[in-house]
Amino acid sequence: MRSWGWRQMLLVLVSCCSLFTRPLTAQSLTLIGGTPIQQQLSACIEHVAAGEFDRLPGEDHTMTIVILEHEKFLRVKSSFQANRTRLAFSNLAIRRMYLSSKVFQDFDSVLRCIPHELGHFVTQSPYEGDAELAAARIRIRAREVCIPPIELLHPVHFPNPVRP
Ligand SMILES: [Zn+2]
Repeated sequence: MRSWGWRQMLLVLVSCCSLFTRPLTAQSLTLIGGTPIQQQLSACIEHVAAGEFDRLPGEDHTMTIVILEHEKFLRVKSSFQANRTRLAFSNLAIRRMYLSSKVFQDFDSVLRCIPHELGHFVTQSPYEGDAELAAARIRIRAREVCIPPIELLHPVHFPNPVRP
C-alpha cells in the first residue's frame, strides 16, 4: 500500500514535469547523488526556473546539483568555507549547487532551500536579498507544479508502532 502510493506520486511528479511546453533545461542539468525521488524533485524545481535561466546572457546555462549525505555535506561545506549556511550552498563560478540530504526532510525545507539557491543562479548574484526575490517566484510555481511524495508532506518522525 505504502510503496504503491510512492509509485503513484512519482508518476504524478513525472507527468507534471512533462506538462511544460517550452524547451526544458533538463539536458543542461546534471544531478549527482541523492535518491531518485530527491533527484526528481530537484529537477522539477529547476525546470520551474528554466524560463529565468533562458533570459540570462550567454549560451551556457548548464548547472549541476549535488546531493550529499549530511555528514559529507558538512565536510564539503567547510572545504568551500561556506560557513553561514546549514543545508545548502551554491558556487556560481563552477555552476554547482550543493544540497544536504536534510533538505529533503520535508517539503517546506525543499521549497525554502532549492528555490533560494536557484535564485542565486538566475540573478547571478551572491546576495541573499537578490536570490530571495527570484526565489519567491520560483517557490510559488514549484508549489503548484512539483508534487512531492506524501512522506515529504507529512513526515513521520516518530512512527507509531503497529498494535494488534
Ligand atoms: Zn543564499
